[in-house]
Amino acid sequence: MSFGAELRQELAGLPAGKTCCMGSELAALTACSASISLHGLGRVQLVYETRSASVLRRIFVLLKERYGIKGVPSMTRLSNFGGVRQYQLRLSVEDSRALLRGLAPDHRSGAARLGLPSVPRRVVRRICCRRAWIRGAFLACGSMGDPHRGYRAEFALEDASRADHLARLLTLSGVESLRTRRRGSEVVYVRRADSVSTLLGLMGASRAMMAFENIRAAGSLRGRSNRAANCDAGNLHKQVDAAQRQVEAITRISLERGLTSLPRELEELARLRLAHPELKLKELGELLSPPLSKSGVQHRLDRILEAADTPDKRD
Ligand SMILES: [Zn+2]
Repeated sequence: MSFGAELRQELAGLPAGKTCCMGSELAALTACSASISLHGLGRVQLVYETRSASVLRRIFVLLKERYGIKGVPSMTRLSNFGGVRQYQLRLSVEDSRALLRGLAPDHRSGAARLGLPSVPRRVVRRICCRRAWIRGAFLACGSMGDPHRGYRAEFALEDASRADHLARLLTLSGVESLRTRRRGSEVVYVRRADSVSTLLGLMGASRAMMAFENIRAAGSLRGRSNRAANCDAGNLHKQVDAAQRQVEAITRISLERGLTSLPRELEELARLRLAHPELKLKELGELLSPPLSKSGVQHRLDRILEAADTPDKRD
């Protein structure tokens, strides 16, 4: 399975989460993968469409758990896409209306502006709901390429206003994104390795994030070892192994309790190590302010490894 497909499956299989976040994720899934058909007299009907069975299942579960709504699933094969499966989930007119009202409490009529919910204000305020919205958007219209070939995650949205909302939520969550247009879609994409990693973590894809960090570390280490082909191979292997262990420990801390849980001086070094897995200790020390000796860096890295193996005291 490709990295992107595994990521989608991991996200779709996460626990549904808190009530507030279920609503938020559904709002994104609805905004990015549902279409509305009008039946006159203000009667509307929502249909979700996706090519992923696991995403369809997630929408089904969230609708049921959060709003007690049961959609009707169906499947068609798209003949002009070589028989690719397309899944639909159709809601009744009554359920569509109830859902739009529930998802867009800021609007008087849920179906205003042809109804697809934008980002409710509470989503922007709460960190947990922001993450859920971004995850929902990724499940609906996101993709990620093979990190062995380059770092890029993207969302292809239908219109500029939804792309604006997403870009804003990403910025608020510390993820740097860029914009482009492609074949009628507004594309929001992330291509800095740090930001891709943060994005994976905040969506809750800890397995994918760990895999991504390992690929990334191996990539920059390989670059280093090519450059240093003349240097003592045994010594280099030792360095590479140590750096990889450090990156893994730092990723684990970051996922379990965040790097801010570390003392300031360790946090600074942890972030530097993640950004530069290929550097030698001496070079890492030179990047610190104030600079630190090789043995000082070693000592701090040992403390980071130790912290990764110590359970969080706050639990
Ligand atoms: Zn929430």
